[in-house]
Amino acid sequence: MKILVLNCGSASVKWGLYADGKPIDGGLIERVTDCAQAVREVLFTTDVSDVDAVGHRVVHGGLRFTTPTLVDDEVLDAVTRLVPLAPLHNPVNLEGIAIAREMLPGVPQVAVFDTAFHRTIPPAQAMYAIDVEVAQENGIARYGFHGTSHAYVSHRTAELLGRDPAGLNVISLHLGNGASACAVRGGLSFATSMGLSPLEGLVMGTRSGNIDPAVVFHLHRVAGMSFEAIDDLLNQRSGLKGLCGDNDMREVLRRRDAGDEAAALAFDVYCDRVKAYVGAYYALLGRVDAITFTAGVGENAAPVRAASLSGLEAMGIAVDPARNGSGERGERLISPEGAAVAVCVVPTDEELEIANQTAELLTR
Ligand code: ADP
Repeated sequence: MKILVLNCGSASVKWGLYADGKPIDGGLIERVTDCAQAVREVLFTTDVSDVDAVGHRVVHGGLRFTTPTLVDDEVLDAVTRLVPLAPLHNPVNLEGIAIAREMLPGVPQVAVFDTAFHRTIPPAQAMYAIDVEVAQENGIARYGFHGTSHAYVSHRTAELLGRDPAGLNVISLHLGNGASACAVRGGLSFATSMGLSPLEGLVMGTRSGNIDPAVVFHLHRVAGMSFEAIDDLLNQRSGLKGLCGDNDMREVLRRRDAGDEAAALAFDVYCDRVKAYVGAYYALLGRVDAITFTAGVGENAAPVRAASLSGLEAMGIAVDPARNGSGERGERLISPEGAAVAVCVVPTDEELEIANQTAELLTR
């Protein structure tokens, strides 16, 4: 079975071609200003004559979409109605689907939602403690994101450890430009750090993660900032960037090594937040078998992994310095031999997971 995967982001288009679950072609188009044009370019320059289906990453599936879904007009309407919840992402995802439908008529188009994996989160984790009627009327809930990555990484972790996912509790840490933590109980998402939007939770490249909501009121009332300006501040000019001026962890690490205090503090704020979520999810899960790092920072930044899990020996959590710093790539264990909690690094592959979920839907 041949599957084309399209992952249209706000500034890039990632794509991959898979034959029976194996990658045969793929690429990344960056600094994209016209997603439709970028998708046309992919479809014109790639041999897509015999693809059986196209799998599309769709960021927001609301509470409705819990599994990969065959796209029809009604599904597109539903995804369009979710645009207010994901104003930067769903519109470009929809553009990609529209072009693929137009250029590959008759080929099944499948939407794979970032939020779907989190639909097993119990109400006690999914609800914000606000007036339930206001919440319900306005769709205020913790949807969670990066679900495709957390699903892939937690299942690969079980594979790496030779364990059945159904019996394994994993804390998955996706640390990329965006970052989120996920408590995975027996293969299912149980809690996650992103909420209504990808702004909640961990410190990210340019997003603040958790702040007191009163900061927003204060900036509006006292500093006179508009809501648009505050939105821009918290999404584009906060996180590592806000703390030290650089959003790329490589640069933060380089400056920290050179004795730069702002970079060192940004690093500490980032890692402390990760550690706080590890502690919280340990408590929620009751028993943790594995902690897995993934995405650009999680896969590559050994100092972040070490600092985020430092001092947790009493919880059975430790990172072996030699294993952590080996520079090895690929799926690997970085905890000491015989540690109670396995600490792993698993490179994420959202496109492969989308291809697999698409193929699975078609053969069901
Ligand atoms: P996205 O979330 O957009 O998919 P990635 O998962 O590729 O992004 O993560 C990108 C981030 O990973 C970069 O901004 C950078 O901070 C970080 N990163 C990439 N390589 C390294 C590295 N070798 N060391 C530290 N951080 C890295």
